[in-house]
Amino acid sequence: EPMVLAALWRTLRHRFDLRCATGAAEALELVESQGPFAVVVSDMRMPGMNGVELLREIHRRSPQTVRLILSGHSDFADVVSAINDGAVFRFLTKPTSTEIMLETLELALLCHHHHNRHGEAPGPDMAGEIAALRTALHDGQLRLFVQPQAGLTDGHIHGAEALVRWWHPERGLLLPGHFLAIAEAAGLSLALTDWVLDAACAQLRWWRDLDLPSMRLAVNITADDLADPAFLDRVRGPLGRHGVPAEALELELTEGVAVVDLDRAAEVLRSIAEHGIRVSIDDFGTGYASMGWLRRLPVSKLKIDRMFIDDIADDPDAYHFLVSLMTMAHDLRLTTLAEGIETVAQMKQVSRSGCDLVQGFLLAEPMPADRFPGWLRERLPPAPR
Ligand code: C2E
Ligand code: MG
Ligand code: MG
Repeated sequence: EPMVLAALWRTLRHRFDLRCATGAAEALELVESQGPFAVVVSDMRMPGMNGVELLREIHRRSPQTVRLILSGHSDFADVVSAINDGAVFRFLTKPTSTEIMLETLELALLCHHHHNRHGEAPGPDMAGEIAALRTALHDGQLRLFVQPQAGLTDGHIHGAEALVRWWHPERGLLLPGHFLAIAEAAGLSLALTDWVLDAACAQLRWWRDLDLPSMRLAVNITADDLADPAFLDRVRGPLGRHGVPAEALELELTEGVAVVDLDRAAEVLRSIAEHGIRVSIDDFGTGYASMGWLRRLPVSKLKIDRMFIDDIADDPDAYHFLVSLMTMAHDLRLTTLAEGIETVAQMKQVSRSGCDLVQGFLLAEPMPADRFPGWLRERLPPAPR
């Protein structure tokens, strides 16, 4: 699509050496004449050949090239099978953010390097980054931030989401967008989740000792966690160590993760839910989840992605879409939360839509976890809706 292509080009041309093709035949010609390339990004729909077919062909001709696909919603089954058999490395949903695009490209390049060096250590930069992150994990450079979540009917704070930060000795406070891909590529995802789970349970313990009204804290988990047979034990460990009931913990699973292997996700989530731990679907609406799909997963909450909130105050269609999402979610007895509320106008519309909970800068920006009790105390009593 010309618009997507132009936007990608603007974002990436300063950082990477790019070639551009406007169709499958042209792309294959480029691969033959100027390849091999490190990474190929393809749109799903094109005249002639679809994106998956193109990437399969490139895989055949140039196996060392890492292949990414930008996909529209309708072609999901194809993309999943291509990911499962290795023809496609990652899919990016449209519209994708610059940050996610860059993160994915960096990850793809890292994998390309690994592949080409046959088990040799990754390049000096990446090796340095990985070593620094390892140090961060073990030397206490990670920080737990939390962002409150409020009920729309009563205005009460129901809990918060745990968001990890890296207090880097030279670069200052880093957001997860700067290091999650490195963690994943370096096999540090599980260690990172374990750190966050432990820090989150420690906070929950402290909040209970302070007699805060019962709060739930949500922790983001990854695809690697879901694939780990020991995952349930890794969650129950910190709960037990800090003496926190399972009901106080919630796990957030981003929509795309559960989608890739629904059966596996359903099985793991069921065992988690049986232990009384809540599960919510994060970033809902950015991937391919359907309501039918949701029915098969034991989840209790839907977090509606910021994308659907952004123009809610100006665009009646956006508002009506949110209302229909609410109806469907409530039919499935799911609690709904709108992410990324930044303005009073957005808050009004979200409130009218029947949504249950909100989270966003308007209510509070993410704060160091130990400030949360003070923030809660200073907060004015909620105004009735
Ligand atoms: P997420 O789970 O969807 O978290 C919400 C993100 O939106 C957070 O970014 C938060 O700071 C930001 N946000 C909240 N309210 C607003 C708002 O009103 N406007 C805008 N523009 N943004 C808002 P953050 O902390 O940078 O985290 C980004 C993503 O990184 C998270 O998205 C989550 O997927 C991942 N992440 C964060 N912490 C962890 C963690 O401990 N473990 C793992 N595996 N992933 C994490
Ligand atoms: Mg989240
Ligand atoms: Mg989210």
